[in-house]
Amino acid sequence: MERKSVVITGGSRGIGRACALLFAQRGYNVLLGYNKNKAAAEQTLAAVSSCGVKCAAFCADISKKDEARRLISKAMFEFGRVDVLVNNAGIARAAIMTDVTESDFTELFATNVGGAFFVSQAAIPEMINQGSGKIINISSMWGQVGASCETLYSSTKAALIGLTKAMAKELAPSGINVNCVAPGVIDTEMNACYDEETMEDLREKTPLSRLGTPEDVARAVYFLASDQADFITGEVLAVNGGFVI
Ligand code: NDP
Repeated sequence: MERKSVVITGGSRGIGRACALLFAQRGYNVLLGYNKNKAAAEQTLAAVSSCGVKCAAFCADISKKDEARRLISKAMFEFGRVDVLVNNAGIARAAIMTDVTESDFTELFATNVGGAFFVSQAAIPEMINQGSGKIINISSMWGQVGASCETLYSSTKAALIGLTKAMAKELAPSGINVNCVAPGVIDTEMNACYDEETMEDLREKTPLSRLGTPEDVARAVYFLASDQADFITGEVLAVNGGFVI
């Protein structure tokens, strides 16, 4: 049987890397997208390739529409199909609202929302041709409840939840499920800007008393991509250790 394939944006590091490894371990061919960190992408590529599946890493700045769309062309070229798309790439910026610049605003929306929008736009016709597909958008608990000093980031992540629900309605008749994972505090480089004390505080505020791991999120993503979730669409799955209930 032909292997399924998954496209993971931001697959070089953190949550995207854990997703790439899990899908590869379950037999998927993997296209991992990255932006600047070629060394990390190559490391992940080597780890994924050792699972015995086809894998390619592709540099594309998904904040630019044409580059975002090229990720899907590359996946079609490499594997001939796209069964699962994980819109994971994202950036954060902590600042009080009055300090947010217009260029921060443009960059965060172009990356976090525009990236998911335009990569999906390119993947949808392929999934429609195949008669099935799973799209998983990575939002954040801050998109659900808002975070002080992260108004911009929270807005982009809330937009992804709206996008997920609208896409789910529009694409259900084509056999495409669209869901969202909303992680809590996950131990990745994205949080490297926070000092030990802040991370400890976040851990204490998490009812399950630990930070999440990239693998915690990857397992939820894999579930939503699997046939176990065939009747789930438009859902937001929280992976936050109880931080937001
Ligand atoms: P990391 O900072 O560890 O990794 C970010 C990934 O996104 C990298 O692969 C990076 O590529 C890629 N990326 C960033 N900008 C672009 C761009 N313009 N074009 C293409 N790729 C890009 O982040 P995490 O793994 O922590 O986060 C992954 C997702 O999960 C994000 O959407 C984030 O908002 C979300 N999230 C994370 C949480 C956390 O606590 N960590 C909590 C809630 C949600 P490169 O390596 O080339 O820089």
